[in-house]
Amino acid sequence: MSHPTTDELSQQYVVPSYGRFNLNLARGQGSTVWDESGKAYLDFGSGIAVSSVGHCHPKVIEAMRTQLGVLIHTSNLYYTLPQAQLAERLVRLTGAPGKIFFCNSGAEANEALYKLARKFGNQCSQTPPPQLDAIHVPSGSPSTIITMDGSFHGRTLGGIAATGQEKVKKGFEPAVPGFTHIPLNDSDALRLAVQSPGVIAILLEPIQGERGVHPATPAFLKLARQLCDQHGLLLLFDEVQCGLGRTGDWCAWKSILGDDSLYPDAVSWAKGIAGGFPLGAVWISNRPVQLNNGSTIPLCDLLGPGSHGTTYGGTPLMSTGAIAVLTAIEEEGMLENARTLGSYALHSLQSLQSPLIADLRGLGLLIAIELVNDFSTRSPVLSADKAPSLALVEALHSAGLLTVPSGTHAIRLLPPLNVSQEEVDQAIEIIRTTLQSFLS
Ligand code: PLP
Repeated sequence: MSHPTTDELSQQYVVPSYGRFNLNLARGQGSTVWDESGKAYLDFGSGIAVSSVGHCHPKVIEAMRTQLGVLIHTSNLYYTLPQAQLAERLVRLTGAPGKIFFCNSGAEANEALYKLARKFGNQCSQTPPPQLDAIHVPSGSPSTIITMDGSFHGRTLGGIAATGQEKVKKGFEPAVPGFTHIPLNDSDALRLAVQSPGVIAILLEPIQGERGVHPATPAFLKLARQLCDQHGLLLLFDEVQCGLGRTGDWCAWKSILGDDSLYPDAVSWAKGIAGGFPLGAVWISNRPVQLNNGSTIPLCDLLGPGSHGTTYGGTPLMSTGAIAVLTAIEEEGMLENARTLGSYALHSLQSLQSPLIADLRGLGLLIAIELVNDFSTRSPVLSADKAPSLALVEALHSAGLLTVPSGTHAIRLLPPLNVSQEEVDQAIEIIRTTLQSFLS
């Protein structure tokens, strides 16, 4: 009797909430994955920026194997050394004093940011200056977070309300209140938005990943910090995709600024933090905040006992995996590699001079190839009803390269941080010949 295939089982038993490619992956090693038929692919998607040290890194396997035989889970009713050590490590690499909250995913890490902001809005004294021409904030809203158009913050109800893209919200109304959106890098819109009564925080991705890799400008980051200080607001960064090494620095905002002249009040992480094991985390600054009763506490103690939590967040097993990943990044020079090979890849892509490429953007190993608007009509082999990004990603699959679509007209290259120059060369040759095939 033949066993059901992956496709048969998935179609019958897995909720079809994802638009998936017709590809069944079976194993991985380093920057390569193999499908069930044994065909190899260069993995320049890394499971959407997750497999930061490549697949099956020996040091991560070793650390996890050992921890599996020691202690897997305890709940957060108790302390464990791996969680405490990981917290110390994350505070150290952020570069400023604070504390860490652990959870399981990016959406959940951002939920902690929203709750931190609401608690801050409800319990900490602020003096927002009233302005007549400020943006509209729904009346009765206790606390409003300003986020950016085009952003992505996850698929929870809070996450889709924070996200600046209509398509993720459709069908899930009513929206969670307390979010308002402005265009990224629009200083005037930000100046206006912070003047509205009820605003308590600004949340932004230093580099927007899901809709084509759009970095915030240094000037916009500095303005956001300045306005938060001036108006008594929290500055929150979502570094779920762009953080922890992808840009060649532990903190993407420092890659943008070129220094550490500025710190947010809290940062969310997930994806690459544990190289594929589900973990999310939030760093919260220890800056003092004044409570409504007049006393002062560090911001990182605002989420006190009983105020927030999750059963699995930061288990000894996940924390051990994350420590092994961060250690490998540090010991094997992967930040430097991300900077060097990121610039090399961008430069090599530029030298392709493809008429199908409209723009190239990126920082470190977070790179977008933006396709020309009339991509479909320029290519005799393309059907007009398929998004160009999807058509290109599928063609690259056939040629042995995994990448990730980013909106309708861009694809993202997100290789592991320890990718080699030879692998970058191979990937760019595949991109060159695939783009060429669309023109002929
Ligand atoms: N924030 C950003 C910037 C993301 O890119 C993502 C996922 O793509 C999320 C949050 C949500 O993370 P998760 O899918 O782990 O919930």
